[in-house]
Amino acid sequence: MKFMESISVFDMLSIGVGPSSSHTLGPWRAALRWVEELKDDNKFDEVVSLTVDLYGSLSLTGKGHATDIAVMLGLMGFDPVTFPIENINKEIDFITSENKLKLNNELEVPFVPKENIIFNRKFLEFHPNGMTFNASFKDGSKESTSFYSIGGGFTVKEERKQEKAKMEKFAQFPFPIQNGAELAAYCKSENKSISEIVLENEKSLRSEAEITNGLKEIWDVMLDSMYVGAHTEGILPGGLNVTRRAFEMNKNLIGDTTYNNAEEWIDAIRNTEVKFRQILKWVSCFALAVNEVNASLGRVVTAPTNGSAGVIPAVMMYYMVIENHDANFEDVQKYLLTAGEIGSLFKKGATISAALGGCQAEIGVSSSMAAGALCELMGGTPDQCLMASEIAMEHHLGLTCDPIAGLVQIPCIERNAMGAIKAINACEMALNSDPAKAKVPLDKVIATMWETAKDMTSKYKETSEGGLAVQVNVSDC
Ligand code: SF4
Repeated sequence: MKFMESISVFDMLSIGVGPSSSHTLGPWRAALRWVEELKDDNKFDEVVSLTVDLYGSLSLTGKGHATDIAVMLGLMGFDPVTFPIENINKEIDFITSENKLKLNNELEVPFVPKENIIFNRKFLEFHPNGMTFNASFKDGSKESTSFYSIGGGFTVKEERKQEKAKMEKFAQFPFPIQNGAELAAYCKSENKSISEIVLENEKSLRSEAEITNGLKEIWDVMLDSMYVGAHTEGILPGGLNVTRRAFEMNKNLIGDTTYNNAEEWIDAIRNTEVKFRQILKWVSCFALAVNEVNASLGRVVTAPTNGSAGVIPAVMMYYMVIENHDANFEDVQKYLLTAGEIGSLFKKGATISAALGGCQAEIGVSSSMAAGALCELMGGTPDQCLMASEIAMEHHLGLTCDPIAGLVQIPCIERNAMGAIKAINACEMALNSDPAKAKVPLDKVIATMWETAKDMTSKYKETSEGGLAVQVNVSDC
């Protein structure tokens, strides 16, 4: 049985840099953590050289996911939340031209990326996304530390030292929820919505002002990624020559209306004529926009991962511009709290790592999170929200992860549009159903997803060794 940890909405939705939460953001954070540990152990100033070993899935798709770049940025001490992404090339170019790296922006060490970052095909036993940081010190001694990127930007060490603290925090939650049935029971006994229950739990971790400000920051990044993506044309980096499509879609849908910022854009969209086709296109445009930003190493919110970052913003935006023109930040807050909780149920009962569960763990989970959260905004009962989440995941079961050339582009970008549309459909079906008559509870679909994940061969778990990744010839792209 998985251990019961406190998972906050801010763990499930975190601001980061694309293209992959487990292969970019996770290694970035692991490098930061390693440097911090060297400091804590008073070994930082003693470092004379270092190498980084990437293993398994992290190595197989690491190039396409910019794992090497992320590791170097982490070693330099940059924060993925605030680092100006336009400076990435400049920083990496400095390392490659000078053959040295400034550890934590303080200590210069020799560093040749091609030699000092080693891509190993071998898998470490603990998790498919393993990495080891190796340091040599002035006195000739050496030390190696391994980290594992377990999905959604989370990083752990094998011994999971944080486990005890997380379990203690979990025990302090007013509503310690392990699964969907417990969540539903708390909603019923307390006569509260899912977001109200989650808010109470969050308040045991941080102040209400911190929660509101944190969620506001998250929404600002989500909105910005939709806006930037919908207004940037061209070809995505990486060599597949994938054309950015959100730009053209937005242009065709918005027509001659003028606007100057994201808020005005929302108003402009509200004034466009929308029939079913336009709704489909708008939702797709929002989702594509985020994932095009993600694919170009832009700033997005992992929701619950980078590859699936477009689903949750796109469905919220759908609510704002189509369903409720008066929607405000209060709605956003409810939506994000509910989405975060549903995501945490999957993390506790299954996985949100494509390296463990394929794409059902990414797009499937994000669609499930969005469906339940939208359902609450649309007036659904907590049971209907959980039913919506269940429906969305049920129809993503078995979805494999097979990105062409290891890039988070094909099938990933379109898949976000599909996940968003399925979420809206799942919500509508749940709103028109009696959850008491549902045959498949959310917890059963979570368990099924986990069993399916275990049965799936590693070819379909973020290794680019199967599926589209081998059927489609990269030179044809
Ligand atoms: S196929 Fe799915 S899980 Fe795999 S990288 Fe793309 S979005 Fe992520």
